[in-house]
Amino acid sequence: MLSFPAGDEAVSAGVTLDGRAYARELMGAVTARAGAVEHGAGIATLLVGDDVTASIYQRRIDRGAREAGVASRVEHLPADASLGQVVGKIAELDVDPEISGMLVLRPLPASLPETRVLRAIPPEKDVEAQHPENAGLLALGTPRFLPSTPAAAFLMLDRYMLDQGMNPALAYDGLDLVIVGRSNNVGKPAAILGLARNATVISAHKHTADADRLDEHTRLADILIVAAGVPRLITGEMLRPGSIVIDIGINAISDARGSTRLVGDVDFDSAIEVAGAVSPVPGGVGPITDAWVLHNAVLAAERREGRHDRPDTLHLVDELRSFAR
Ligand code: NAD
Repeated sequence: MLSFPAGDEAVSAGVTLDGRAYARELMGAVTARAGAVEHGAGIATLLVGDDVTASIYQRRIDRGAREAGVASRVEHLPADASLGQVVGKIAELDVDPEISGMLVLRPLPASLPETRVLRAIPPEKDVEAQHPENAGLLALGTPRFLPSTPAAAFLMLDRYMLDQGMNPALAYDGLDLVIVGRSNNVGKPAAILGLARNATVISAHKHTADADRLDEHTRLADILIVAAGVPRLITGEMLRPGSIVIDIGINAISDARGSTRLVGDVDFDSAIEVAGAVSPVPGGVGPITDAWVLHNAVLAAERREGRHDRPDTLHLVDELRSFAR
């Protein structure tokens, strides 16, 4: 199905990318590696306040950690916790010998200065690359950790390319990679990872849409990554035939009967008629994201023991195939 660069000819319906299967592979690798760390790997998650989505995410990470044999410490502070209390809790987690990686869940309560909280995370344990030092290393092309959501998008792309007989270390060369959304946690790091793979990267965002020029760019894309938080923003007619579309958006919508369900930023039904491959929501990038946080906690534990694995997905995808079930 896939032929790069994507063409302008109509193609038959594309492939649905199975994020759950890729996540199972990654969990297999994480479990094997966690078992080989002499002093164990551990993840701490800190939730401040009562954001429901963040709390669900915290429970998912805890469950995944138990599955993978990674120690898990789940911490919660009330919404009115002071900066000193939050920084004190981070320092307490830092001295816990079981904990190799930590994650401060967002959103933080508006009363807390996010930058000062994120600066308190020890950079060697900062599995989401939230500390400015790690964000800087990523921007320079020498990452210590890849943040989980953009890493999950590229793991899916790399892994799919490998299945199509392409070498992901070379397959992006000169392709048009369009990223919709430019947030610090998703869109911007995804652009950096695309540049590192020698793609021609175009960053589109709200102002692109307001100028009514979004589809001009999306129609050029050999690869399209969408992280805008706008339900079904991208439809099939905005896509280049044969392209690969990675949908990062997670949006809760209510139907006429009042029941709520999750949809992505891509209108899957029309997209799959045009694209070569599309990741669904749910069941796409999300499950890989959860496993990636644990992967980074294990990576941090391996480094504590003097092993220096490279953090990028490119060095991992071949190994992952051996965990396919
Ligand atoms: P954000 O609100 O921080 O950023 C949204 C970005 O989209 C901004 O750069 C904005 O300019 C752009 N945008 C907004 N409206 C647009 C439009 N009409 N056209 C083009 N661009 C537009 O959001 P975020 O944290 O980057 O998250 C984006 C989406 O990804 C959300 O749905 C979020 O739930 C989801 N998400 C999923 C995961 C996962 O694990 N799968 C992780 C993080 C975020």
